[in-house]
Amino acid sequence: MPTPTGTTAPPQTKTLESRVPGSVMVDVAAPPVPNRSNPLRKPTHAEATSKLKTGMGILIFGLVVGGALFYFGFKILGGAALLFFGGGGLAIVLGRKDEVAACPFCGAVLDNLPKPNPDNVPRPVQCKKCWEYSGLQKGSVSPYNPNAMEERPTFRAPLAQRVVWPRACVQCGAEPTRFEEVSTSNLSAGFLVVGTVRVKTFKLSGVPYCNTHKKAVEMNTGIGNKLYLDWRSLAMMRRYLAANRGRFAE
Ligand SMILES: [Zn+2]
Ligand SMILES: [Zn+2]
Repeated sequence: MPTPTGTTAPPQTKTLESRVPGSVMVDVAAPPVPNRSNPLRKPTHAEATSKLKTGMGILIFGLVVGGALFYFGFKILGGAALLFFGGGGLAIVLGRKDEVAACPFCGAVLDNLPKPNPDNVPRPVQCKKCWEYSGLQKGSVSPYNPNAMEERPTFRAPLAQRVVWPRACVQCGAEPTRFEEVSTSNLSAGFLVVGTVRVKTFKLSGVPYCNTHKKAVEMNTGIGNKLYLDWRSLAMMRRYLAANRGRFAE
């Protein structure tokens, strides 16, 4: 059979998983970064109304829970609940008309945006839907530098109970030569949430590293003691997201 000419092979995505003891890895590239910048805009009436409802809901929840705790003598806990939920709800209500923008990656609404940096250095904001980072500047958002590297693990990604690692050092992307563990041993909490499951402690083994790097990913908790995996390298975090699409329980 003649070899067809002029046809291009479909992009090679090796989905074959390989198992070094304790580590499941896959060859995966970071998804492309759209060349798109979206303007900041006033929220629509419907968006503002929906935020008003959400904010009021949280505020009322805080008043009820905080009030009940107070009533039964748990003054510190009650005060904390009032401050946390009351304050959070109020912030959403007051900020319901703040400018929003469409995520340059998935189009979802980016809201609760911080103030842009006065020197116009892009400020990272994360999409709650696709986890991608965009850079907020005066009047617009565009994809954040996909090769950004932070001093400490700060780029946040969701966690699954079992994850697949990109076959690359979690900091620099080089061929892995060592495998480490990342765990919650430095976190002191009553319970932690991974996806939808409650756990006491949690660890992932088989984190790929090259010879020179270490401590490039960290487990940390967010709201509701939910566990996240924080990364120093945005490029590697994006490869991790690509390797684990569909594994995260939302
Ligand atoms: Zn998005
Ligand atoms: Zn490395």
